[in-house]
Amino acid sequence: MGRVSLLNVDEIRGDFPIFSRQVGGRPLIYLDSAATSQRPRQVVEAVRRYYEEYNSNVHRGVYSISVEATEEYERARRKISRFINAKSEREVVFVRGTTEALNLVAYAWALRKLRKGDKILLTEMEHHSNIVPWQLIAQHTGAEINYIPFNRYDGKLELDKLDRYKDFKILSFTYASNVLGTINDAKRLVKYAHENNALAVIDAAQAVPHMRVDVQEIGCDFLAFSGHKMLGPTGIGVLYGRRELLEEMQPFMGGGEMIREVHLSHSTWNEVPWKFEAGTPNVAGAIGLGAAVDYLERIGMERIREHEESLTKHALDEFEKIKGMRIYGPLEAGERAGLIAFNVADIHAHDLATLLDEDGICVRAGHHCAMPIHTKLETPATTRASFYLYNTHEEIERLTESIKKAAKKFKIT
Ligand code: PMP
Repeated sequence: MGRVSLLNVDEIRGDFPIFSRQVGGRPLIYLDSAATSQRPRQVVEAVRRYYEEYNSNVHRGVYSISVEATEEYERARRKISRFINAKSEREVVFVRGTTEALNLVAYAWALRKLRKGDKILLTEMEHHSNIVPWQLIAQHTGAEINYIPFNRYDGKLELDKLDRYKDFKILSFTYASNVLGTINDAKRLVKYAHENNALAVIDAAQAVPHMRVDVQEIGCDFLAFSGHKMLGPTGIGVLYGRRELLEEMQPFMGGGEMIREVHLSHSTWNEVPWKFEAGTPNVAGAIGLGAAVDYLERIGMERIREHEESLTKHALDEFEKIKGMRIYGPLEAGERAGLIAFNVADIHAHDLATLLDEDGICVRAGHHCAMPIHTKLETPATTRASFYLYNTHEEIERLTESIKKAAKKFKIT
């Protein structure tokens, strides 16, 4: 189809050993990066080097390989801090992922600060990870939850209704929806929270891997993301928190590493961010995430975003020609993340995904941990194709052909 790619995708794919494998005799077409991305050799190599060359616990040893492990672990923190433009690496807390980061804010901040009748403001397009922790806190404190609605036709938040919501203590919202693809106006939402003297928390699981995110420019108080969606290992993620807030918060978990002194009667806490990193951390994961950030920086986040936008536009153009196709979320590629959730007539999402799998195409089907979105869209499930820096325009064409083939099988012509 002769589209010019903004990235040297062939070279990038060469860094991902998984793309040399076949599925059912066909090349693997991986369109599920919104669930988890693939990993380049450089990340696997960084993890391997840690385990094979200087494996030891961090922060405790005086011997040289432990010092090396500590240096690499803390160097990864500095890389991530620069990547999101935090003021200091002290604002970067290593956690297991977005879910744990949001729970940390819920338990270490909201549980202690909220009282009966206080309001928590969320949006209707949240992943369960940004709903359930707040429901748990609301049950415990008697706080109430309100939701900013989205328009079911264009998938955008109804920001013209924003000023209905007053007197809330915290606004937590997704930067980019993992179902609708909608990219929210994070700066505007943060500003609105601050005008109301509330904290602004961002679930950036679908944003940080795909676009330049600058926490100082956005002005948020907390921001959560996962390593495994941005070429890094599983089991590592980040909570960014403004230093003053992290300083005033109580720890989330107690144990080793997060203490300064422990007496039988009481304990005192380590400095931030270590105050929030109880127990032996995921050293290999953090080092691997540092390597993933190096990789993304080398390619350039602006170019990755442009590439994904071009793939999304291509897919939207092709999908529109498929009979019975229903696409959810904004129809402009520039307004959405590189993912498309859709249904074709009344083919069940799982049936469609199974047929695509027969062509070696990996897509996700179901509610994508966002049941309230599906309830509002009046569909129990959608099929979702999601793109990343290693996907090609040819793969979009293969996907389109495969969907058409499935539709034919179901006699939708
Ligand atoms: N929020 C959003 C928007 C997501 O897409 C995801 C992952 N599907 C999460 C939160 C949860 O991320 P994790 O499972 O890595 O904690």
